[in-house]
Amino acid sequence: MSKKDKKTAADYKQNFVLKVCVVGDGGVGKTSVVMRYCDGVFRENYIMTIGSNFAVKNLPLTSLETYVKLQLWDIAGQKHFSFVRPPFYRGASAVVYVYDITRRESFSNIPIWKTEVEREISGKPFILIANKTDLADERIVSKKEGENLAQQIGAHMYFETSAKDYQNIDEAFLFLAEKILEK
Ligand code: GDP
Ligand code: MG
Repeated sequence: MSKKDKKTAADYKQNFVLKVCVVGDGGVGKTSVVMRYCDGVFRENYIMTIGSNFAVKNLPLTSLETYVKLQLWDIAGQKHFSFVRPPFYRGASAVVYVYDITRRESFSNIPIWKTEVEREISGKPFILIANKTDLADERIVSKKEGENLAQQIGAHMYFETSAKDYQNIDEAFLFLAEKILEK
């Protein structure tokens, strides 16, 4: 396709800017998942998010004639940042809960995150992401447990991802974007 033929946002019937919050314990890979999705990169060294990160993914949904700009807000997971978080949830169209399959506590804390988020927003679609599947040898939380939790908390879908290996990341966000548009 030549540059001239390339469709831009203006060529779509509908245009949406959708805010999505990515939440979960510190270190589970929220920033990595978002960076992988939006910038296509992964970094091994850990840089703690202070407050929040913000990234944008342009997602043309050709079959729906809809152009979506996903604004991904990745919020600091450390407990001592809890006072800054509520405003970041406001206005979100959907939520992504992330845990690390090698750290059980990050899995057990998901319902606590959900409670925190739902104090600010409710009735929005959300998915559960089990990240770091490339670390299969260090796995502590099974797929079955993840699926059960997803069902128990009423998540629209459960995805197993690896930001490192770029597994299932596009699929997760695409699913969520389509879920939001269904509403
Ligand atoms: P956040 O605190 O939730 O934002 O977590 P980060 O994205 O900063 O990631 C924490 C650490 O886990 C970093 O060292 C990342 O390189 C690493 N990490 C994130 N995602 C993955 C993954 O899918 N696989 C592996 N092996 N490491 C990951
Ligand atoms: Mg981070």
